[in-house]
Amino acid sequence: TYCTKCSTGASDRLLQPLWDYLLFHHRPLISSPFFPVLLAFSSYFLLSIPFAVLDLLGEKVPFFYQYKIQPDKQPTLRMMAKSFFTALYNHIFFVLPAVIIGMFIFPAPALPPEAPTLYEVFVDGLGTLLLFDTQYFIWHFIHHKNPQLYRWIHAIHHEYLAPFSWSTEQLSIPELMTVGLWSNQDPILLKCHPLTTWSMTVFSIWMSVEDHIGYDLPWTLNHLVPFGLLGGAPAHDMHHQKPSSNYAPFFSHWDIIFGTASTPE
Ligand SMILES: [Zn+2]
Ligand SMILES: [Zn+2]
Repeated sequence: TYCTKCSTGASDRLLQPLWDYLLFHHRPLISSPFFPVLLAFSSYFLLSIPFAVLDLLGEKVPFFYQYKIQPDKQPTLRMMAKSFFTALYNHIFFVLPAVIIGMFIFPAPALPPEAPTLYEVFVDGLGTLLLFDTQYFIWHFIHHKNPQLYRWIHAIHHEYLAPFSWSTEQLSIPELMTVGLWSNQDPILLKCHPLTTWSMTVFSIWMSVEDHIGYDLPWTLNHLVPFGLLGGAPAHDMHHQKPSSNYAPFFSHWDIIFGTASTPE
């Protein structure tokens, strides 16, 4: 169903059937400028829902509750609703208009006939994660050191000392727009295949949600990836308790290098 010329010498294009399926059956959707936002918000919603249910059940499920990082701090339904509707409101009234303006400025990304190789997805994906991690580390550090920037731009994310899944995107509009701009432009800068870009959208949102679930579950990425390379919920929960530590969103290296790493005693 696709040109054999492309497939020669690319026997590891395991993603080609998936890519062909998307191109042939969902082209209007995936070529829409709204698709990245739709993907980002729906994956945020779907990845957070199980943890929101966990938050509502709380102590009733001891199997999960034993992993709660701050057991004395349980989010209320009111807190959860407020965080969720803040994110929804910001996406509808600020992110969507920004996308519409962007339609006139940025060209629609081309959809190549070939799928990326798994190796490309991994290497380019890791590149975008490392770049974003570095950008956010610097931004985050500055917004904690400058009292004006903190108060007006970052404080809303620190409303609660104990994070819970819906608090992940409790962000001010400037913070959400900055993070959105990097998520959008970094893959373009690194010349990622659209499939890599979308995979990383979902994957980085998954990592951000895991940072904020408030549970140190034994099967989260920070436990699956060796050598403590990823901070995960224990590190980011600590950032909400002790805001002058653990500035990096995903990886541990910048906080170790700059001496801002903090682990629970
Ligand atoms: Zn946070
Ligand atoms: Zn912070």
